[in-house]
Amino acid sequence: MAHNWNTSSRVKRLPGNWGTIRKRILARDSTCMICGIRPSTTVDHILPMTDDHRDEALQGACDPCHRQKTASEAAWFRAQSRGPGRRRPDEPHPGLF
Ligand SMILES: [Zn+2]
Repeated sequence: MAHNWNTSSRVKRLPGNWGTIRKRILARDSTCMICGIRPSTTVDHILPMTDDHRDEALQGACDPCHRQKTASEAAWFRAQSRGPGRRRPDEPHPGLF
């Protein structure tokens, strides 16, 4: 069940009605579901790296939070692919400054 993300750049597979879904999620989650402060400008997959585009699998997020989440997910997946013992300690949450 291991996915191999190394062979090529990951192509986002979005459904044909993504524009409609996106509008609906942004209307539902008008405030970022991650920081709860800034307005949502993008739609985030709650579970990363899935092709689940149901409403309950998606959430509205602001750009900075979404970038942060995507970056830490990519780092996590890189750490997994390097094998155990190489994980760096968790970084402090950026919201705690
Ligand atoms: Zn946010």
